[in-house]
Amino acid sequence: MPDRRSRWREVSGIPVEAPFLRAVEAVGGPAVLGYPITPGLFAGDALHQYFNHGRLDAPGRSSAHQVGVPRLADLGKAMARALQAPPAAGSDGPFADPWIDESRRDRAGPPASAPFDWRGWRIRLYERDLVRMLDRSPVDARPTPGHLGDLFVTLDDTERTRGAEGPAPVQRLTADPPSEVQAPILTYHRIAGPTAFQAQLEGLMDAGLSPVSFEHLVAAIEGWAELPDRPFVVSFDDGWLDQIDGALPVLQDLRVPAVFFVLPGFDRHGQGHMTLADIQSVRAAGVTVGSHTINHANLPPLYRTNLGAAQAEVVESRLWLEADVAGVDYFAYPLGRFDPDVKALVAAAEYRAAVSTVPGILHNLERLFELRRVGVEAWWPLADVVQKIRQAAAADGVPSPV
Ligand SMILES: [Zn+2]
Repeated sequence: MPDRRSRWREVSGIPVEAPFLRAVEAVGGPAVLGYPITPGLFAGDALHQYFNHGRLDAPGRSSAHQVGVPRLADLGKAMARALQAPPAAGSDGPFADPWIDESRRDRAGPPASAPFDWRGWRIRLYERDLVRMLDRSPVDARPTPGHLGDLFVTLDDTERTRGAEGPAPVQRLTADPPSEVQAPILTYHRIAGPTAFQAQLEGLMDAGLSPVSFEHLVAAIEGWAELPDRPFVVSFDDGWLDQIDGALPVLQDLRVPAVFFVLPGFDRHGQGHMTLADIQSVRAAGVTVGSHTINHANLPPLYRTNLGAAQAEVVESRLWLEADVAGVDYFAYPLGRFDPDVKALVAAAEYRAAVSTVPGILHNLERLFELRRVGVEAWWPLADVVQKIRQAAAADGVPSPV
């Protein structure tokens, strides 16, 4: 297996403020914490970072703890200065819209900058949070709350080390108890064009659902992260090339995270599947990459007739992918076929979670290697997608989120 440390250093999705990185090292580094699975999350003015083996907290200025690092809660102001965006005194303008109630404003703190453009985002920094505008059309802008950690994840090396002085005493809190969460994981395969797919995602978000990354969902199932109200996850199976042209631009435009379960080397069949270079490019675009085996293997019978081949499909597919893309931690059973032996094989290969095709939206630790999903098609009208979500919720005996 690749060295955890090197993976941790390569993977995107970490708040890479240098003192925080040193704090990670101080508590034992990736060997203790694993690697990061969420951006930095502010609660009050403490920065929480979830790793796959735990959570690290860096206390802020209202904490009683002594800290030898720049006050994390001031990062918004510091970044605003760095970006030469003057702090604003006037109205929040369109950025006022996310404040559904004043508690959220309290959480974010007072404005620390005027709105500015930064790497494709229209952003406004607050002392403890950020709000980003999601442009859907020239006349329709959607403000969404974000996290300062979202900015950290794309800082370059120079930016990471800026302002980093002194050691970083930190607390490591114990993980919260595992919980049960509800979130439809939509499963897509082929996509004919972006229009209907975009309408589906916009419709779900307009209905109040919040897209979250697959990592975020798994972290919540494991009890280390909290989900927004009515979350949903987008997944694509089989590594079809048309997902790049049809889906990826929509996901990027709408800032919807997604996981692609791909088949490394399957492009050799010449049937329109992604090459490793394609898979690298979707990972670089921010998509999570998971394994779907090498040959789309039907694993339960293969396990019984040729254990070595079954192991290779599960283990080698991951190693093959990880030679080119960092952090392949999730698995999708081809054809949705699994049994207890196959589940144990996937877990033994150190995947962190696996998805099935069993309909459902309820997730817990017992289901971590047979996560329920909702099978849909990218060309359906929104109503059909909603109908499938309702059926899946009913299968689990829980209320539908939409
Ligand atoms: Zn498949």
